Amino acid sequence: MAIFLPELPYAKDALSPHISAKTLDFHYGKHHSAYVEKLNGLIEGTELARETLENIIRKTAKDASKSAIFNNAAQAWNHAFYWQSMKPIGGGSPVGAIEGKIKAAFGSFEKFTQEFKNTGLTQFGSGWAWLVIKEGKLEILKTANADTPFAHGLTPLFTVDVWEHAYYLDYQNRRGDYLDVFIKHLINWDFVNSRLD
Ligand code: MN
Repeated sequence: MAIFLPELPYAKDALSPHISAKTLDFHYGKHHSAYVEKLNGLIEGTELARETLENIIRKTAKDASKSAIFNNAAQAWNHAFYWQSMKPIGGGSPVGAIEGKIKAAFGSFEKFTQEFKNTGLTQFGSGWAWLVIKEGKLEILKTANADTPFAHGLTPLFTVDVWEHAYYLDYQNRRGDYLDVFIKHLINWDFVNSRLD
């Protein structure tokens, strides 16, 4: 197997009650692991089997004939990044270097949370909402399906999965409630600060 499923950075019940152990069991154990498994099947015996996950994504991002490989590789990367974007007893006002950068870019943490929530809410169908660095500046953006900002030369700082499988068991159709909880209780600002370095 060329690409491995990374371990979750916390126990499956560590984000409860905000994200249940049942959701992590399915989301990590079934969805994330399936992307890794499918990717390995698709690249087996090809030159891509010797590449890192990041290089597989870069090399297939603009090649429509390799969209299945790109989709599974980008989903494998996005999920690993999403797990790291959260921590138990996280969220709330930012700490460290990111605090001033958010204030400078968005005016206040409140304005940042409004824009971030709205971005996640308005991603039609499946996808992701992100805080990224684009040309040295912080920016909030959304991507559809498997797409990932680093395939477009941007530096992701954190992400939230807005595919229904990320929240349906705990929040049913209430994506806004899930986004509120992500912002209030789950964002791993330590991870974000480590990405700034
Ligand atoms: Mn997902």
